[in-house]
Amino acid sequence: MEIRLDKITDEPFYWQEKLTIPVETLNRPELDNLSEISCQGRVAAIDDGYLFEARLGYEQKLVCVRCLTPFADEVEKEVELRVVTQASEATVGELELSKEDLTLLNLDDEILETTQIILEQLQLNIPMRALCRDDCAGLCPVCGNNRNDQPCQCENQQIDPRWEVLKDWQER
Ligand SMILES: [Zn+2]
Ligand SMILES: [Zn+2]
Repeated sequence: MEIRLDKITDEPFYWQEKLTIPVETLNRPELDNLSEISCQGRVAAIDDGYLFEARLGYEQKLVCVRCLTPFADEVEKEVELRVVTQASEATVGELELSKEDLTLLNLDDEILETTQIILEQLQLNIPMRALCRDDCAGLCPVCGNNRNDQPCQCENQQIDPRWEVLKDWQER
């Protein structure tokens, strides 16, 4: 959605949109699927720019790094940005001092493209190491069995790490 900032005066601009973004766009192998993204928010003119506030809601399917099984993750996220355009740039210096906690978005023109912001948020919400649950037991390194579903007998056969060295030596 394109928001014309120069059209915003005293009244904030409210909008609501639904987006479908192909998983490939995000280029993250751990992301298996993405539901429709619903977004609503408002943009208000403030002293030295604009205040962008939005709430995103969607479901992402992530692949667990330990057991490689996809699992669903509900995301509810609030985004707050301070938007500055060329026209208001002169005051950026002061503004950064007073509102350090707000992320600053610099625009060349008066058109705010919400899809760009949403895409960035989607990236941020994909964890570095996705886990289906904190205590995921993972796959058995010996037989490949998913140890969350059922235990396998391989654990008993595991070689004592102290003997690994000897095993390597024997294979030489
Ligand atoms: Zn897992
Ligand atoms: Zn096993």
